[in-house]
Amino acid sequence: MPKKNSELSIGLDLDIGMAVETSIALQAARCDNHAPLIYIHAMNGTRNIVQGCCNDWHCSRCGQIRARHEYGRMVHGAKILAKEHETYFVTITCRGKEVSSEEALAGYPKWTNRLLTSCRTKAKRAGQFWSYVQVTELQKRGHPHSHILMTWKPNDAIPYEEGDRLPNDRLATRNVLWSDWFRKANIKAGLGTECDISTVLSTVAVATYIAKYLFKDLQITEFPPGWRRIRYSQNFPKLPPIENIDAFPLLTRENWLHASKDAVVIKCIGTHAYNVSKRTIKGDTLLVLVDT
Ligand SMILES: [Zn+2]
Repeated sequence: MPKKNSELSIGLDLDIGMAVETSIALQAARCDNHAPLIYIHAMNGTRNIVQGCCNDWHCSRCGQIRARHEYGRMVHGAKILAKEHETYFVTITCRGKEVSSEEALAGYPKWTNRLLTSCRTKAKRAGQFWSYVQVTELQKRGHPHSHILMTWKPNDAIPYEEGDRLPNDRLATRNVLWSDWFRKANIKAGLGTECDISTVLSTVAVATYIAKYLFKDLQITEFPPGWRRIRYSQNFPKLPPIENIDAFPLLTRENWLHASKDAVVIKCIGTHAYNVSKRTIKGDTLLVLVDT
């Protein structure tokens, strides 16, 4: 079954400045979930037929497209937030040995939710601005941990420099912030004591670092259904909409007719798009296969 939320990924890929060649090769690949074809009248004037994005992390094609899209949003958002706010890099981790992988997977979304709610409430009460993006990955032993880029730190956070002895008796391996409140909030939420906050010097660099986890082990990592590999606060900036673009999914005979009447030449991205278009579009429209 084709999924409904197909995205117009050509423009998005160009937006985030990934190499166009790689992007086209990826677009030309075939979606594992049979996403519908889309007709796109692009900003540069070209007319294209390309398969939509099924948004499934496990799709060999669309998992990559989605990761690029999220990467784009994270970097774009980081740039905007950094203009007006300090940003912080936070790592949170699931409890260790005493929790089985199954328990960890089942509980982690709930525990992180509780922690984020505590932060949101605390920031709100203090009248402070809190925006975040969280990326979660599974460690080898099956326990999840997350990296979060946020615009907020608890008021009790104290800076420690690399080499300083921290209140838990460990030596700081880099410059960090220590917050008793945050550690307690982690434990109270059901997470472990392994948490870490540091002030970000380059917001975009950190966004890029965190986003890399989205590209890692895309297909082999088995996240449970409904798992949110990436999560944004509502106020995290969105990518700008693609303007002046006419696009629609090719689902009905009318859709195909509309496309063929709209263009003299249509670029078909990938052999699947080309073959289906060749079979479906009658008349003089010239179909050009683009696959690298
Ligand atoms: Zn797909």
